[in-house]
Amino acid sequence: MSEAAELDAADPLAGFRDEFELPEGVIYLDGNSLGPLPKAARARMREVVETQWGVSLIRGWNDHDWMGAPTRVGDAIAGLIGAGQGEVIVADSTSANLFKLAVAAMQARPDRKVVLSEPGDFPTDLYMLEGAVRTLGQGRRLELRPAEAIEAALSEDVAVLVLCHAHYKTARIRDMTRLTAAAQAVGALVIWDLSHSAGVLEVDLNGCNADLAVGCGYKYLNGGPGAPAFLFVARRHQETLVSPLSGWMGHQAPFTFQDAYDPALGIQRFACGTPPVLGVSALECGVDIAARAGARAIRAKAAALTDLFIRRVEAGPAAAELRLVTPREAGLRGGHVSYAHPDGYAIVQALIARGVIGDFRDPDIARFGFSPLPLSFAEVARAADILGEVVATAQYDQPRFRQRAAVT
Ligand SMILES: *Cc1c(COP(=O)(O)O)cnc(C)c1O
Repeated sequence: MSEAAELDAADPLAGFRDEFELPEGVIYLDGNSLGPLPKAARARMREVVETQWGVSLIRGWNDHDWMGAPTRVGDAIAGLIGAGQGEVIVADSTSANLFKLAVAAMQARPDRKVVLSEPGDFPTDLYMLEGAVRTLGQGRRLELRPAEAIEAALSEDVAVLVLCHAHYKTARIRDMTRLTAAAQAVGALVIWDLSHSAGVLEVDLNGCNADLAVGCGYKYLNGGPGAPAFLFVARRHQETLVSPLSGWMGHQAPFTFQDAYDPALGIQRFACGTPPVLGVSALECGVDIAARAGARAIRAKAAALTDLFIRRVEAGPAAAELRLVTPREAGLRGGHVSYAHPDGYAIVQALIARGVIGDFRDPDIARFGFSPLPLSFAEVARAADILGEVVATAQYDQPRFRQRAAVT
């Protein structure tokens, strides 16, 4: 038996593959950008649209507990990220959630002027932080320091440190325990972005004494395009932090229709408007699969899949041309593997033409995501072989592979 076949035979998660719809002839290495469709979501969407919305109409809010869906799914996500019940809610987008938590954190540290983060990480996070400091004003500013200089930049002027747990390009994992403790030692709060962690890595927010976190629903949680995101607020902060987007769904009693805003107790105060019931329902199906598989087993398979891919590419004909920008050490590596190559864009397009779907990140990164539940080791080995062939024989060197599309 080949190594990949042996790994598949011993894979305790192999049965989960059948819970996803995947088109014939495609090896899907982009579940870190848009997770594939859970079969259960297809049936669930039909039921929510046809039976709940179609028949129950407005009664659905009570009869199908639409109102409770954001905290119900939040509680399920909590189990994947080391949070407690009542500490996670599904709401809005990752961008909006980051804004809410960043402003709330700055307002909880009114004498401190600095929001500290890292340059070169996912742009929307930095854009939202720019907007948050601009909105609050009064001398507040965003300071960016490279990863290795973050700890030295922590001072008593830092209100909040905002970091991504796993880097969207390199997949490098930050030491959540250590950085959280370092920031808290100077009195700052920390917001972790778990977009590239939830559903693929083991995260222990409460084990790290984390303050705040946000994360994405449509990547490894397989919630569907534009799925609502989630946010975490440690219980100890829930009564002191207040969302700047003080919408009625975060009100203590929204249906008393009173004029004054009275924030709900608990995580509900970080909701803003009416929950997107269709989106939360689809997300619930993806989260349910991950919860049944368990974060530990998922993380172990992610490490094994990425390890097999890296070894196989390295043993192949294109090893010298592809520069690995992802950490080699499995413990420091998230769920994707990235290579720098001057023709990265064309390589990704040529791979897509061969049925291997990855993606490209500026300026020269070919990125391959390894969603552990829908993927087999055999597919990953095959993808590595095709990558080697496409690069070594310069199959990508054609004008049609250089045409840039709007979404990469
Ligand atoms: C995917 C991702 C987002 C997505 O934000 P949206 O508001 O859903 O567009 C934000 N931050 C990080 C780090 C991400 O990886």
